[in-house]
Amino acid sequence: MECPPLKITFLGTGTSTGVPMIACDCEVCTSGDKKDIRLRSSILVQSATTSFVVDTTPDFRYQMLRAQVKKLDAVLFTHPHKDHIAGLDDVKAFSFFSGKVMEIYANTLTEEAVKREFAYIFADKKYPGIPEINLNTITLTPFLIGDIPVIPILVWHLKMPVFGFRFGKFTYITDANRIEPIEKEKIIGSEVMVVNALRHKQHISHFTIDEAIALVQELKVPKAYFTHVSHQLGKQATINKELPAGMELAYDGLTLCFT
Ligand SMILES: [Zn+2]
Ligand SMILES: [Zn+2]
Ligand SMILES: [Zn+2]
Repeated sequence: MECPPLKITFLGTGTSTGVPMIACDCEVCTSGDKKDIRLRSSILVQSATTSFVVDTTPDFRYQMLRAQVKKLDAVLFTHPHKDHIAGLDDVKAFSFFSGKVMEIYANTLTEEAVKREFAYIFADKKYPGIPEINLNTITLTPFLIGDIPVIPILVWHLKMPVFGFRFGKFTYITDANRIEPIEKEKIIGSEVMVVNALRHKQHISHFTIDEAIALVQELKVPKAYFTHVSHQLGKQATINKELPAGMELAYDGLTLCFT
């Protein structure tokens, strides 16, 4: 299926604590550079007729206000960690104006977490004004959200299966530190890829910056942006100077257009 022209907006590019981190006085958390301020990781994907977010972070409400999003058709989840699902309640605002139930696309692991952590949404007797959602279970089979084709990519976050996604020429992979060869094949040929790069020091469930660079080089994707960044990585202006050509840190508000 042909992918329509897409606009991607980075709503957040920080790790689970966000940057600045509460109570931290380090040079990154106190940086005067706006690009060092990172809400939790999420993107907005838009075609002429369809809009959805990948993940609803704890910052979801502010991310929607900041990006002036007036219409949202769906939410696509990567995995059930709190920094990726916590903001789900606020989708109710979109339903209030559209009169439509919010379509949620998630794997079974994430669906279970949504049912557990937002149990009131599934109660028999519902409190008025709570979100109305419709769960769509996704597997590795490609599918459509509106007119946008979605190719799920299985990646590993220590032992947790996480979904990365390819939309046309663009691939988005957040929390992961391992990708099997068969899934890497799905990324090859992308014009742009996004991958998590937490910090310099090894981590049990995230790629380090060096591992992220090596992955991009291995897959020969010409342009890459790194996301899910910790304050421990350093200031963006410093890190960007050290990165190979074609690679840079993503930042909140960055937009990419694909024809
Ligand atoms: Zn995360
Ligand atoms: Zn800090
Ligand atoms: Zn995670």
